[in-house]
Formats: sequence, structure tokens, C-alpha cells
Amino acid sequence: MSEYKRVMLKLSGEALAGEKKQGFDEETCIKVANQVKQLVDKGIEVGIVIGGGNFWRGRTSETIDRTKADQIGMLATVMNCIYVSEIFRYVGMKTQILTPFECGTMTKLFSKDRANKYFKKGMVVFFAGGTGHPYFSTDTGIVLRAIEMEADVILLAKAIDGVYDSDPKTNKDAKKYDVVSMQEVLDKKLKVIDLTATIMCLEQKMPLLVFGLNEENSIVNTVSGAFHGTKVTV
Ligand code: UDP
Repeated sequence: MSEYKRVMLKLSGEALAGEKKQGFDEETCIKVANQVKQLVDKGIEVGIVIGGGNFWRGRTSETIDRTKADQIGMLATVMNCIYVSEIFRYVGMKTQILTPFECGTMTKLFSKDRANKYFKKGMVVFFAGGTGHPYFSTDTGIVLRAIEMEADVILLAKAIDGVYDSDPKTNKDAKKYDVVSMQEVLDKKLKVIDLTATIMCLEQKMPLLVFGLNEENSIVNTVSGAFHGTKVTV
């Protein structure tokens, strides 16, 4: 059995795109869905936050207004959540999508009570649209929601299999941490989550488990204790 009752899983937009780097890779998404289903079947409550990088990043454009560019980014995360939510339903889960702004009939407006109601019904809850504000990211989005929803831990599924002391792409001697403190992440500017999100985790004592999404069964392994990524402690 898992020590966790409620977890928040962050998937980057690129992770959904697989090799293509753009749009969606259905096979990748189905693999994620099947793993999440195993957690839900064990009675673990799972919240999902998805990035938007497979479509758009606010800082991509140097011509248009940053606030507007970020709005496009937030809407990209909503598109991603609608897609992945449908894939989750396809493999047999019940889902709901919450956004911090109205999206008409496409999603429901976020509130803590509403999210708790869906979790109680055994649904996977998608927290789409980030924080709803420009100049933030889905890193800050997931930390904020994890804190508000009193999650036990944030699961950070990445293209890389943990936190390193330097970039393993450029330094072949880069060392992977099994455990590292959030303070050290902050002090050494280790690339885990962005600075705002790191400080929020530190202040509110929200731990992270960082692991590689590409590794077979990594989401299930992470939650069930067979974890070999990096634990970021607080
Ligand atoms: N975004 C935002 N506010 C939020 C969350 C996301 O403005 O609370 C926008 C921002 O433009 C960002 C994009 O949505 O670049 C996609 O989010 P993600 O966190 O994937 O961005 P990344 O960190 O990859 O730039």
C-alpha cells in the first residue's frame, strides 16, 4: 500500500507530445492513463496539472504583449487537460476539469470544495489553466493547488530521471541526487521547478518526487515505494 492518500501529478506539455515535441502522442498518453488508473484503483486521489509547452509558451513571442501571450499559454494547458481527460475516460476513469476562469461549458470553475467533492466521488481532477494569471507557470500552478488541496506530495514526471548537480547533457560527470532538500535546490539553483514555485514549496512544506516519465511504470513505482528518482525534502 502507498503512504500517500492524495497526490498531484505534473506532466509537462512536451511529455505528452512524445518524440514529436508538438501536439499529442496518443500512445504516451494512454501509458500515463493506465498507470494513473492503477493508483486510483488503489484508492489514491490523483490531481493532474499539465504544462502547455507542446503548443505555446508565453515567453515564446517577442512581438505580442506578454499578458496576452501568457493567456494563450494558459488556454494551451486547458486544451491539454481536455485531451488527457478524455484519454483517462477511455481507459475507464472518471474525470473532471477545473479552471481558475470560466470556460463556458468546457470546464468547471475551480474551488477547493468542488475539487474535494470530485475526489470523494473517485474522480481524477484536472487543474487546468495554471494559476489563471500571467507571469506564472504551471509549476506555480501545481504547487498552489497542491497546497490548497492539502496533497501529500507532488509527483514531477520529467524527461530526465531525477535532479542532478549539473546538466547531464553537457557534463558527463553530473551526479544524480537520491535526496536533496528544497533549500539546497534554492541555494544551488538546481533546475527542478521555477523559483517562485520552489519558494512556495519551501514556505508551505510541500515535498516533491522527481522521476523520468519515459521509464516503464515510473508513476506507479514512485507512489508504491519502488522509487529511484530524486526526493526533494522540506
Ligand atoms: N501560464 C501562465 N500562468 C500560469 C500558468 C501558465 O501565464 O499560471 C502560461 C505561460 O505563458 C506558460 C504557458 O502558460 O509559458 C505554459 O505553461 P508551462 O508551465 O508549461 O510553461 P513553461 O514553464 O513550459 O513555459
